[in-house]
Amino acid sequence: MREAIRRVLIVGAGHSGGAHALALRELGFVGSITLVGHEAHAPYERPSLSKGILQGEERPLPLAEPWRWAEAFDLRLSTLATAIDRVAREVTLCDGRRLPYDALVLATGGRPRSLSVPCAAAVHRLSTLDEARELRGRMVGARSVIVIGGGVIGLEVAASLRAAGLSTTVLEAGPRLLGRNVPPDAAEWIAALHAQEGVAIRTGVAIRAVEGDEGGVTVRLEGGEVLEADLAVLGIGILPRTELAEAAGLPCRDGVLVDAGYASIDDPHVFAIGDVASREGVGRQETWFHAGGSARAAARALLGLPPEPADVPWFWSDQFGRTLRVAGAPMTADTVVPRGAAFSLHLRYGRIVGAAGLDSPRDFAIARRLIAAEARLDAGRAAEPGTDLRKAVAA
Ligand SMILES: Cc1cc2nc3c(=O)[nH]c(=O)nc-3n(C[C@H](O)[C@H](O)[C@H](O)COP(=O)(O)OP(=O)(O)OC[C@H]3O[C@@H](n4cnc5c(N)ncnc54)[C@H](O)[C@@H]3O)c2cc1C
Repeated sequence: MREAIRRVLIVGAGHSGGAHALALRELGFVGSITLVGHEAHAPYERPSLSKGILQGEERPLPLAEPWRWAEAFDLRLSTLATAIDRVAREVTLCDGRRLPYDALVLATGGRPRSLSVPCAAAVHRLSTLDEARELRGRMVGARSVIVIGGGVIGLEVAASLRAAGLSTTVLEAGPRLLGRNVPPDAAEWIAALHAQEGVAIRTGVAIRAVEGDEGGVTVRLEGGEVLEADLAVLGIGILPRTELAEAAGLPCRDGVLVDAGYASIDDPHVFAIGDVASREGVGRQETWFHAGGSARAAARALLGLPPEPADVPWFWSDQFGRTLRVAGAPMTADTVVPRGAAFSLHLRYGRIVGAAGLDSPRDFAIARRLIAAEARLDAGRAAEPGTDLRKAVAA
């Protein structure tokens, strides 16, 4: 965008929205920055919602101290943005007020997917701090839980509730756990970890209905089996919150379509970052790393600064005191090179494209650098856990 920008309006005061506001100030932007957020809390990081908060921590990691928001930003909490007028360059809020912008940044994240079958309202979701606190409150006195969804968040919730002593069952519709973004070998390490900790995992499960109330839930499966528990949690992924963008005519396809600088492909005055952004040729990413990275990249683009070199995407998941880390694009690999019991390198035409490991932070850090360098690996040497991975780079 080449015109002078005096007013930036960010819709969504979650991780990426907060990080974007902070990045703009760090890069020297002195104009006004307004953040509109539907939640009642100042921007915070979400990973602890399925881990620390369920295990007794009081609050998640804030993006900045409260005084910083008051000092340098116009932060409007408990406020929903309801419409975008791209001609007038204004956003309407739920109270009818209209806020003008020179640049609009959509950081609206995603909303939890619903089941396509009847599902009682008593089933918990876990996308906000309030929902996590509500679930923690209901864990008191509960003895059993059914977690619907064997993805990253479902399994983290299962691990947290099992560690709190609840009898825990995970129901997954697909043929294996973590089918969307974790390679099969790493999914098996996690399945084994859960089995060892006493979580009952069932895959290939078709649910007919989930009934119940605060007193308990009943899950009816296709075929007639009935499962009961004190609590149920639904974690089957999210859908990007694109409704504002779509209503404003911005091109969307599984997210708001953006270019490499996170500007809408149709409007240089509108950006989208975090979980709601779908980058051309890359798609959507739902990770802590991408929330912060896209926020900073969009801030640079908005201010007309050159982009920073792209970093290798990665994410982590903490379960039962172990940390799974996945980097790059392991799902596209054609060769998997195991390196010890719970670490693997993923190669495509001999070059490393991904890595996954349970713990092993040092090997993981080196693997990320090798992925960035598109290094060709000697698979035999890379498979020896005692060998420094850097020495496995083929000439
Ligand atoms: C429980 C949980 C655990 C996670 N754990 C990990 C992890 O271990 N590792 C990892 O890499 N990633 C993890 N993630 C993913 C990571 O937290 C997300 O990718 C990140 O929060 C995305 O940031 P965002 O800003 O796009 O969306 P969010 O942080 O979800 O923020 C979006 C905000 O926009 C608000 N909003 C939406 N529409 C409007 C509107 N119209 N008006 C006003 N406000 C609006 C929402 O209320 C919300 O506050 C986890 C996510 C969750 C939910």
